[in-house]
Amino acid sequence: MKSPIYSFFSFHLVFVFLIVFLLALLPNPTLSRKEPQPALSLKHLEGSRKGQTVKGLHEIKNYLKRFGYANVVANISNYHLAHENDDKFDDVLEIEIKAYQLNYNLEATGMLDTQTLQQMMLPRCGVPDIDTNGKSSMKWNRYNGGRGNVNFKFFNGKRKWPPSKYNLTYKFTTDGSLTNIDYETLSSVCARAFATWAAVIPFQFKEVGVVEHADIFIGFRTGDHGDGTPFDGPLNVWAHAFEPTDGRLHYDATENWGTGPASDEIDLETITVHEIGHILGLEHTSDGSAVMFPHIGLGVAKRQLGSDDIMGVKTLYGLIG
Ligand SMILES: [Zn+2]
Ligand SMILES: [Zn+2]
Repeated sequence: MKSPIYSFFSFHLVFVFLIVFLLALLPNPTLSRKEPQPALSLKHLEGSRKGQTVKGLHEIKNYLKRFGYANVVANISNYHLAHENDDKFDDVLEIEIKAYQLNYNLEATGMLDTQTLQQMMLPRCGVPDIDTNGKSSMKWNRYNGGRGNVNFKFFNGKRKWPPSKYNLTYKFTTDGSLTNIDYETLSSVCARAFATWAAVIPFQFKEVGVVEHADIFIGFRTGDHGDGTPFDGPLNVWAHAFEPTDGRLHYDATENWGTGPASDEIDLETITVHEIGHILGLEHTSDGSAVMFPHIGLGVAKRQLGSDDIMGVKTLYGLIG
């Protein structure tokens, strides 16, 4: 027969389990903010090709436009302007997809095959691959009748820091409540990332306090943050930076940032090395082993410069003949 004390405990145990169960059902704002969202969901568009109308195709058009691919067609007709946001797979979209495929070392089929969609769904840098003049530092330019540079990985017009600015200062402009990365972590990660570039060019980088003059401004931001290039929430675009001598470098605060990184995290140092490349004047490259390749996925640490990065930055600053 049960003792009264045993009954008392079993009643309370059931009660405690019930409370724990109910608490688990409640939304947790801290955890839900960091849960990875599904990446750009384009899977249902697989196999689409010219001539078809497929629901959701406008997402591909918007994606390609966002990263500069609308600039591959020099004189776009009124017909295409009228159709740039609908679901018609027209010949302009086919040309844009071919340009994307060339840039990412994919077979230039002009259709939305599995490899192309998989590439597009990987998280990436927010800086466009093709500029407003239709110039690109990536492979597509080589097939473009020489509209732009072929091998160089610089912003249009080769913008760079003048020799009087080889000692650059940087400071942090972050609202600490936006991110799980604390100041000490950010400071040490950035110091390492700057040192990575300083090892190959005659630049010095020094952190200064928030009220001091600085050349480079680094911070976490969310959504539309006033520079004309809004962030899009978790995944897709993780950061962007501006060409010399602007100096702004922004991370999307809604990403799951890490310094490890775990398989569901974006590596802060890898992304910082990439974005400092833009701060110095480098553009994207099609070389998948380079830090300046635009897509860097979750859990990937690519903190060392590749030969393409080193050649690019040394050429830009006149260190190679
Ligand atoms: Zn980039
Ligand atoms: Zn920004």
